[in-house]
Amino acid sequence: MAVLVWFRNDLRLHDHQPLWEAMQSGQRVIPCYCFDPRQFGQTAFGFAKTGAFRAQFLLESVADLRQSLQSLGSDLVVRMGRPEVEIPALVRELGIETVVWHEEVTAEEVAVESALEAKLATLGVKTEVYWGATLYHPDNLPFDLDRVPEVFTQFRKQVEQRSTVDEALPTPKALPPLPAITPGPIPALADLGLTAPKADPRGVLPFQGGEAAGLARLQDYVWTADCLKVYKETRNGMVGANYSSKFSPWLALGCLSPRQIYATVQRYERERIKNDSTYWLVFELLWRDYFRFIAAKHGDYLFYPSGLRGLQIAWKQDWERFEAWRTGMTGFPLVDANMRELAATGFMSNRGRQNVASFLTKNLGIDWRMGAEWFESQLIDYDVCSNYGNWNYTAGVGNDARGFRYFNIPKQSKDYDPDGTYVKHWLPELKALPAAKVHAPWKLQPVEQRRFGVQLGVDYPRPVVDLAQSAQANERIYDAAQLLPRR
Ligand SMILES: Cc1cc2nc3c(=O)[nH]c(=O)nc-3n(C[C@H](O)[C@H](O)[C@H](O)COP(=O)(O)OP(=O)(O)OC[C@H]3O[C@@H](n4cnc5c(N)ncnc54)[C@H](O)[C@@H]3O)c2cc1C
Repeated sequence: MAVLVWFRNDLRLHDHQPLWEAMQSGQRVIPCYCFDPRQFGQTAFGFAKTGAFRAQFLLESVADLRQSLQSLGSDLVVRMGRPEVEIPALVRELGIETVVWHEEVTAEEVAVESALEAKLATLGVKTEVYWGATLYHPDNLPFDLDRVPEVFTQFRKQVEQRSTVDEALPTPKALPPLPAITPGPIPALADLGLTAPKADPRGVLPFQGGEAAGLARLQDYVWTADCLKVYKETRNGMVGANYSSKFSPWLALGCLSPRQIYATVQRYERERIKNDSTYWLVFELLWRDYFRFIAAKHGDYLFYPSGLRGLQIAWKQDWERFEAWRTGMTGFPLVDANMRELAATGFMSNRGRQNVASFLTKNLGIDWRMGAEWFESQLIDYDVCSNYGNWNYTAGVGNDARGFRYFNIPKQSKDYDPDGTYVKHWLPELKALPAAKVHAPWKLQPVEQRRFGVQLGVDYPRPVVDLAQSAQANERIYDAAQLLPRR
């Protein structure tokens, strides 16, 4: 008797219910991962669907999983191909009776699950599907998934008052060896059509994929650096390793389970301090849950240009301006520094993401899906629900959109980068500018440009739009947008 555990965005051994249940069943356990070629194609707007940074983080995570499984006496079967083809082939080869996995909620992922389930049904193979991506299990929510409150605050209050978090499951101590089978090599980036990205020493962290590195980061941030107690005050920063937790890449690939983080926060509260900051980290994890539950509730609407709200905005697909945004050449230092950080490292702070997404949609009026796809390609923490959910939200087409709201870039620059440290970090051409001028280089007189060694239009671009006028024009478009009837 054998059970195949299909690993997906759950590349860990701790708190892994399919693996845990498979082990308890006393059957032979066959862990498997498939590199699905569809994930390495192109997005609708023509970007690499999984860019080099993200792919590298994934390869490291799979390699780490394999190593952990080997140290327990097992191994990871790795296949290059579609899961609905590769897994049935393994089932036939090894006489597997059951296949288990963690379910996903969005279109592409659900389509793979359905195709696999259909194939397995024809082979008479049993399947068991578990939920494991969120802090709160749907069974513990005070509402059904199709009744998740649309507004985050309502969701949060009900969950905080009436739900509990299940304990994280332990890591197995040993696993049975694999039957006679070739485990298969882990591909190199080149096999996925990608070139190894260059590590940029300016990045916030040298992110390393895998459960071991994820657990080490949890330990470092919470216990060693002791940063959890000030998280609420530092979380809007943009420079350095510890202004925020940086757990997101490991959460996105499931190298860290949110329940493991929760248990760590609770222990920290008992052993060190319980304050607004310790609460706030869990509060942020609730945003993550919320976006996943909302995605499960609304299905494909998440990906429509009109978004969850069904607001038919006349989005532009202006490639020239989009390229200026994508490459960090808009003439607005806060936007440009963040976009260059993303391209150079595969990461960007939450503050940065909110600003660049607002600028793309509310100042440039560009189709938010172009921005979301670029993020999908680049972000090492890309998570379909969090990414598309946040983009819906920032573009004003989210389920709880409240009119035309946008980020005032000069004000944000002053509030979150008052001395220009962040923009100078990523825009060396602005290094000599004094703090009072660095966020508005377009105001520099010719004599100042000479003094500070930056010639506008040559060393650094002039602004692609007028901020106030562009926001007003896009507000008019927003206000004129029609609401589409739902279902
Ligand atoms: C346009 C846009 C796109 C985004 N795309 C993604 C994405 O693809 N993947 C992703 O994980 N996050 C995404 N976020 C949310 C957020 O920016 C990142 O989770 C956060 O910056 C990660 O850094 P951290 O782990 O240090 O966060 P921390 O501030 O330390 O927060 C702890 C954890 O809480 C969760 N969290 C925090 N803020 C949010 C949020 N707004 N939405 C959902 N979860 C949140 C994350 O899991 C994060 O790791 C996006 C935000 C915006 C505005």
